[in-house]
Order: sequence, then C-alpha cells, then structure tokens
Amino acid sequence: MSDSETTAKPAGDTRDLIILGGGLVGMTLALAAAKAGITSHVIDRADPADLVAEGADGRASAISTASWNLFANIGLGERLAPLGCAIDSIAVTDGMKPGQIDFTPKAGDGSLGKMFFNRDLRLALFEAAKDEPHIAWHVKTEAVRRDRGPHGVEVELSDGRLLRASLLVAAEGRQSPTRDEAGFSMAKWDYKHRAMVTALFHEKPHNGTAWEIFYPAGPFALLPLLDDAQGRHRSALVWTVAEKDAAGAIAMTDAMFINEVAARMHGVLGGIELAAPRMSYPLKFHHAAKVIDQRLAVIGDAAHGMHPIAGQGLNLGLRDVGALVEVLTDGMRLGLEPGDAQLLARYEKWRSLDSFMVMSVTDSLTRLFGIPGKLPSAARRLGMGAVQRMPTLKRFFMDEARGMSGKLPELLQG
Ligand SMILES: Cc1cc2nc3c(=O)[nH]c(=O)nc-3n(C[C@H](O)[C@H](O)[C@H](O)COP(=O)(O)OP(=O)(O)OC[C@H]3O[C@@H](n4cnc5c(N)ncnc54)[C@H](O)[C@@H]3O)c2cc1C
Repeated sequence: MSDSETTAKPAGDTRDLIILGGGLVGMTLALAAAKAGITSHVIDRADPADLVAEGADGRASAISTASWNLFANIGLGERLAPLGCAIDSIAVTDGMKPGQIDFTPKAGDGSLGKMFFNRDLRLALFEAAKDEPHIAWHVKTEAVRRDRGPHGVEVELSDGRLLRASLLVAAEGRQSPTRDEAGFSMAKWDYKHRAMVTALFHEKPHNGTAWEIFYPAGPFALLPLLDDAQGRHRSALVWTVAEKDAAGAIAMTDAMFINEVAARMHGVLGGIELAAPRMSYPLKFHHAAKVIDQRLAVIGDAAHGMHPIAGQGLNLGLRDVGALVEVLTDGMRLGLEPGDAQLLARYEKWRSLDSFMVMSVTDSLTRLFGIPGKLPSAARRLGMGAVQRMPTLKRFFMDEARGMSGKLPELLQG
C-alpha cells in the first residue's frame, strides 16, 4: 500500500462499488468485479496483517467445486491449487454406530470439494487485491456515515475521507452495521452450540475422507488436510459442544482435550496429536428476509449465517458474489449503472431460493441429529441406511456438496 492506510485516490474518488468488509466474501467480490472491469473501494476495519497472522483464524474451509471454479476464474487457481486437499469421500455416521452413509463419487466424477486453511485463502486474495488497479483498498478504517440517494452513494470514513459510488455492498459479516442500519428484518436463533476448532496430526492417512460424526451434543467433523512438510498426516477438527459445556472444554489442558477428541474418533485415524492452536466459535443462525434496498446489496455472512455442519456458509457467500457480478456485468453492458434498482431486484430473486434452501437443510440436519435417545437414533440410522442404498439420492447429495446444482452463475461454472 502507498501509505500505511490506503491505496485510494484522493477524497471523493468515485467508483462503481463501495464494498464494506474485505473478508473472504467481500474481497472475492472486489476481485471478481475487477476482472469484469468494475471498479471498487473496499473498506475493512481490520489490519490485513492481523487477519493473516498465524493463529488469527484457525479454521479450514470446505470449498465446493463451484467455489473452486470461481477462485480459478478470477486468477487464483495457480496459487491455491497446491494448497488444497481434495475431499474424495464423505462418511456420515450417527455417533459411529453401524449404518453409516458413504458418499464416494464414481471414478471420473471428480472430488467433492477441497479443504483450504482460511489463512491461505485470505493471503491469496489480499496479494491479488494489492496489485489490482480496479480496487482501492482502505484498511484500519470504517464507515461512519452511509448516504444512499437516487443519484448515488456517499460514505464517510472514520478518518474523514469521502468515497462515492453507484452501489453500496455490505460484506461485513454477521454483525453487519450497514444491514442493521438499513433495518432489514432477520430470522435468527442461537443453537447454544460452540465449535471447538483446531487441526490434528494422526497416525493413519485420511485417504481424502471427511468424517461427519453426529452426537446428540452436536456434530463432530474431521476434514482432510494436506500432510505437512514433514509428511505428517493432518485433518481439521470441528467439534461442536453445547454452550453450557463450552467453558469446560476451552479450559481443558491439551492432553485432556486430545483424550476427549480421541474418545469420539473411535480410532478411525489411529493415534492423534494437536497440530494447531485451539479456537472456539459461537454458533448462531441468521437469515435476512431482504438482501437489497436502494443502492444497497447485502452478501455473505452479512445476509446469512448458519451452523458449519455442512460447510456451506462461505460457499453460499461465494455464490452471492458470482450472481451479483453477473447481474451487474449484464446490466452495465446494456448501459445501466450498478446501483440500478432492476439489477438489484434480479440479484435478490436469483439468490433468495438457493440461500433459503441451503439454510433450511442445514438447520434441519442440525436439529434432526441433535435429538437424543435410542429411538430417534434408530430412526435416523434407518433413514441413513435407505439413503446408502439409493444411488440417485446419494448423487443428489453429492451434487449439493459440490455446489453444482441449481442455476449457477457463470463464474462458478467449470
Ligand atoms: C467453525 C466454522 C467452520 C466453518 N467452516 C466452513 C466450511 O467448511 N465451508 C464454508 O463454506 N463455510 C464455513 N464456515 C462459514 C464461513 O467461515 C463464513 O461463512 C465466511 O467466513 C463468511 O465470510 P464473510 O466475508 O461474509 O464474513 P467475515 O469472514 O466475517 O468477514 C467480514 C469482514 O468485514 C470486516 N468488518 C466487520 N465489520 C466491519 C465494519 N463495520 N467496517 C468495515 N469492515 C468490517 C471484518 O474485519 C472482516 O474482514 C465456517 C464457519 C465456522 C464458524
């Protein structure tokens, strides 16, 4: 960056978009827009160095085939390809009891997605954004005033600078102040769950298998990562505990933590050790009924946040990105400006069904597997046995995991 805080042109610099929040979704939007010749200001209150510091975000994300296509189409494929671990199959079990479902694609159908450390995704996005002339990236600052009117958008930053654009995009994550200021009504609830996140070294290779083990207290997921430089096998762990037990789980020594984790793994990967710092995230659901308003579009976790059970949050946000860029590009080709109300209406219509479906399925799964007792467990295993025997249904679920179903934006097609 030219000075310590910004790469922006002088105050008043007018661009097509002002994107508030330069996280995984906001920055992908800026880059995808830039590839289509759309200019943007990206504002993030955090210091990018803090966001990519070791241990700042210990999560790894399952990136669907469709999301991978988006990263490749905006020029990040070469950089990211060596860092992703293919998910070749998914094993779903009810507490490791008999009757699991194995989702393994047919030979030649490709993987079910790839696992990436969030840190690696962020580093790739930030590096590309730094050199992109269509992006003016303003960091360690935030909007203190947002005015949206019939002729454009004006944002005042905390350091006094004024930015102007045709369209304002809120990508500030779950607590988006822009969405709240616009007064969007939200469906929201608290799962009273906390995700304990870390990475594990393990004795046996994972063979590209992701394990989704459902316990009444919450799902327990093991997701394949690439071996480290010393050839040690690794997987990401997302262990969901009830909020009332979270303080105890956080306070455990590493040795106690590993014992508890090993007890839930039933030896599937042999002996285990911690491979990363432990972190925890509260788990809540929220869904905005509306995602547009005058010269405003809301994307990513600002619009929808869900349980990570199916690894869909970021993937859904990336589909928002693909759809918004496509709608804007089509409209601008016809001479419309990015903030045009018709374009925004098209964006909302496109995204609402997909977003509602993914959120509903994710929420139902969380509830279904959270019902304790022998009878619900037996019923679930009966249902899983039925799915296991139905190739068409299994194929449907695998296409969902790949993110390849429904009307996909061009940027997410192969
Ligand atoms: C444990 C866990 C595991 C997950 N695993 C997966 C997975 O496997 N696959 C998947 O698809 N999804 C997964 N998710 C979901 C995924 O992490 C989120 O959906 C994704 O990070 C959302 O990105 P975002 O850019 O919308 O929001 P965020 O990542 O929250 O980014 C928001 C950005 O806005 C900035 N910001 C915030 N407020 C302001 C402000 N007022 N002004 C300016 N800037 C601001 C922040 O600094 C940040 O950079 C998981 C989530 C959890 C909790």
